[in-house]
Amino acid sequence: MDLLNTLVDKGLRRESPTREEALAVLATSDDDLLDVVAAAGKVRRRWFGRRVKLNYLVNLKSGLCPEDCSYCSQRLGSKAGILKYTWLKPEDASKAAAAGVAGGAKRVCLVASGRGPTDRDIDRVSKTIEAIKEQNEDVEVCACLGLLSAGQAERLRAAGADAYNHNLNTSEATYGDITTTHTYADRVDTVQQAQAAGMSACSGLIAGMGESDEDLVDVVFSLRALDPDSVPVNFLIPFEGTPLAKEWNLTPQRALRILAMVRFVCPDVEVRLAGGREVHLRSMQPLALHLANSIFLGDYLTSEGQEGKADLDMIADAGFEVEGAGTTTLPAHRADVAAAEASGSGCGGGSCGPCGDGGAPAAAAAPEAGAGVAPEAAPEAGAGQEARTDLVSVRRRGAGTDLPPNA
Ligand code: SF4
Repeated sequence: MDLLNTLVDKGLRRESPTREEALAVLATSDDDLLDVVAAAGKVRRRWFGRRVKLNYLVNLKSGLCPEDCSYCSQRLGSKAGILKYTWLKPEDASKAAAAGVAGGAKRVCLVASGRGPTDRDIDRVSKTIEAIKEQNEDVEVCACLGLLSAGQAERLRAAGADAYNHNLNTSEATYGDITTTHTYADRVDTVQQAQAAGMSACSGLIAGMGESDEDLVDVVFSLRALDPDSVPVNFLIPFEGTPLAKEWNLTPQRALRILAMVRFVCPDVEVRLAGGREVHLRSMQPLALHLANSIFLGDYLTSEGQEGKADLDMIADAGFEVEGAGTTTLPAHRADVAAAEASGSGCGGGSCGPCGDGGAPAAAAAPEAGAGVAPEAAPEAGAGQEARTDLVSVRRRGAGTDLPPNA
């Protein structure tokens, strides 16, 4: 297929596809699916080999959020029966993080529900980062605390945070349909504050919320322009008790096409398969490793993932390898820029939206349709997809519980 040859050539040159080409990927038919995965897989292997980076989520503060993000189980008025607790003590968060590191995670993501941190919250998180790094010097720490106020990014960076996550989630045009208590511009501003403070930016999307193909392409092109180092791709987990509980729009094939499109648009960026992979990809998860070079190990913020051991077996069985602590995730050309920025000598470079809960997450986490190109081949959002509520389980283990974590 000419389209795929063109996209591979561009991906190997780190060149952006056109919007029409990105839309055409989403409009490909199931007959072409393996060709699409193989093409995007070439781009993935060029920049990341067969390595899979493991990330581990620690939910520092769960539920009771005053914001109204429709996809989120922790939102204002959520009836989802999730765990609710306030800030974990630094030693408890550090214990939770250690379980993930022992399972092979090289990044720990510290997430808290809420609009954004107070200065006192930054103090608490700083102590938590210190406690984690005392135990695991090499672990990367990413904070995901919501919208940042002036000076907070610098304080987190000084405390040892390597990265900050705040997802754009969906297109600017539809953002107001998903959330009314803050704006898309607020989110962009927080990502830029994190970058300006020298933290590696992590910002991604949630697919499956009823958005169009154009919306998906818009948000991914906006992410490319924002130039984060990692892009988590969440697939909405339609939690009972949230406004999007009936949005079961995704098929495994659709999820793979979305991941392939993200890889073509962000060829040399860490594309992270995030919340909702078990629910929506199901037995097709291993194919997604040909597209994403990073996953979450174990559970998500408020929902359970597959067993950590099953994640590790899947990676090995599919012929991939867990990325070691001594390996730099990003390709040299990006890693050099990131290092220069972190040291303050860079040129400035190119959830909350809870990361990793596919709509159940706090600030980082939060779906599709046909468009322009070959619309007759595009799947219709919400058309006949079976609700798999049996695959959605509220997290009952790990942080905030007496049960051991899943890692
Ligand atoms: S995504 Fe974050 S800000 Fe939005 S409701 Fe959930 S916890 Fe609150």
